[in-house]
Parts: sequence; C-alpha cells; structure tokens
Amino acid sequence: MTIQYEVGNDIVSWCTKCKLMLDHKIVALVDDFPKKAKCKTCNGHHNYREKPPEKKAPGTTRKTKKSEYEVLMGKIEGDDYSDAKKYSTQGNFKENQMIDHATFGIGFIVAVIERNKIEILFKDGPKRMVQNR
Ligand SMILES: [Zn+2]
Repeated sequence: MTIQYEVGNDIVSWCTKCKLMLDHKIVALVDDFPKKAKCKTCNGHHNYREKPPEKKAPGTTRKTKKSEYEVLMGKIEGDDYSDAKKYSTQGNFKENQMIDHATFGIGFIVAVIERNKIEILFKDGPKRMVQNR
C-alpha cells in the first residue's frame, strides 16, 4: 500500500515541542515524502518524524527490535482483519479488541483507561481515544 502525501494533509507526527505523537498538517514534501509538518496542538513547524526519537543506549548494537505493534500484528494469522471493529466515538470497546480506524488503520486496544477513554496501539504508536460518547 502506497500512501499519497499532499501538502495540507493531516498526518500523525512526533512533535519535537509537545514531545508527543500528535496530529499535524504536512507543510512541505520532499520526493513525495513529508519533510516538514505543523503541529495542530502547538502550531510549531518542525521536521516530520514518523516515530518518537529512539533512546539509544550507548554500546549496544542490537537493532531491529520488533515494536509492540508488530508483535501484536504478528499474532493475526493471514492478515485477517475481519474481526476488527470499526472505531467510533459511540462505540463500547474492550481490552485486546482489534479496531479499524478510518485514519490510523488497524489498532489494538491496549487499555480501557476510563469508561470514556481507551488507549489504542496503532502502527504510529499509542493513542488515547474516546468511547461511549
Ligand atoms: Zn506540538
């Protein structure tokens, strides 16, 4: 699946100011890939970052450690997402449920924080979302 990026599109990026994965707008593309993004939360411009900066432990050469998301995805046999529930703010979701979000794709509910608040792990990282609205 190839994603077509366009200036002005929404994108989830690491905000270097807020230190969070947040909704951004693409402000510049280089080779069809987002280069700069504007944070919708602090309005700051910065380079687009797919992921939070990784803390590198000096002296360790261990590289491709699977992310929690990839581990969870690996559990789905034959890429069968038919169990994924469409996300909606009115939904009532449970822990470990697979979810299909219009923007963020397939995610897993890692925690029900409150009756109205759930934490979902997406490819882009964990996100807090509402439910039972
Ligand atoms: Zn920000």
